[in-house]
Amino acid sequence: MKIAFYGTKPYDRIWFEPMGKEYGFDIHFIEAACNQETIFMAKGYDAICIFVNDHVDAQMIDVLYEMNVKAILLRSAGFNNVDVKAAEDKIVILRVPSYSPEAVAEFSMALLLTINRMTHRAYNRTREFNMSLNGLMGMDLYEKTAGVIGTGKIGQAMIRILNGFQTHVLCYDPYPVEGLEAEYVSLDELFKNSDIITLHCPLNSETRHLINREAIMTMKKGVYLINTSRGGLIDTEALIAGMLDGKFGGVGLDVYEEEEGVFYEDRSNDIIVDDNLARLMTFPNVLVTSHMGFFTREAMQAIALTTLENAYALENGLPLVNRVGVEMTQ
Ligand code: NAD
Repeated sequence: MKIAFYGTKPYDRIWFEPMGKEYGFDIHFIEAACNQETIFMAKGYDAICIFVNDHVDAQMIDVLYEMNVKAILLRSAGFNNVDVKAAEDKIVILRVPSYSPEAVAEFSMALLLTINRMTHRAYNRTREFNMSLNGLMGMDLYEKTAGVIGTGKIGQAMIRILNGFQTHVLCYDPYPVEGLEAEYVSLDELFKNSDIITLHCPLNSETRHLINREAIMTMKKGVYLINTSRGGLIDTEALIAGMLDGKFGGVGLDVYEEEEGVFYEDRSNDIIVDDNLARLMTFPNVLVTSHMGFFTREAMQAIALTTLENAYALENGLPLVNRVGVEMTQ
């Protein structure tokens, strides 16, 4: 199988190059992201391999179909960046449903601990021998109430971690699971009662802007908000309005609704044209990271393995257990 691998970073090659050879695949690594301009580079390939900020819309699906590309191999769990409906009878979409839920949950806790205890600011201060503690006071997590939205694999890992800190854990999911050390409540109750809110649900038409002005109004003053799921879950303008209102104790964002084309790139010499992102960066109690919750050795290895197993299954007519279907978008 010939695979056009979009958005290649040096760390992708570490895993995909040797494993791809073992499978006998011909992988062509392309640095450019997958978009309307670069989609034609997939001509002559059997499959394309893309990541979270590569984008495949209905028009691009048609181009791929005409070029006889048979599969889109997502090296991610989320698939909101692909028009699944448009692909339905034309192209197979395969994903990596689970690689290391702990990697993302642990990173969510890292964001929470950082933004609460401000170790990022302390680090910068002490390097300049500014040993003042002014403005660095945090809160105990012990016996606070944490609200987990989405109790799938990552949400459950986060619940286990939060229980280790002896927080009282509330959770919300339209499809509850039994046996969690957490109390299912309505979304409204979760917003009203949580000192910490952490998002672990997928982005779809139902969850887009789940965190909007109305939701923020119902939250406790001083609430901590963590989003390692997808940027579109938060209405950024509503978040900024809430920040200006002094609503949030801290906000940790590993994802951002307009991250495509910005995250994963070095833009340090560019003029930032996204005013909302620039505004977010000015708040001392907001921490933005570049969609890196997944980024551990264990997770990268598992991503490469499942992506290539998916390709192998397709090539050899085996059951496609990780296929993304239209029913998953409803
Ligand atoms: P999962 O499918 O195991 O769990 C998602 C859960 O969300 C499910 O239990 C589902 O019922 C629930 N859900 C669906 N609609 C909901 C709604 N309206 N409100 C609340 N819950 C809802 O997925 P997962 O592996 O736990 O991943 C969760 C999300 O994390 C993914 O969708 C992806 O966007 C994100 N993610 C981010 C990174 C990163 O690097 N930052 C890495 C992997 C995944």
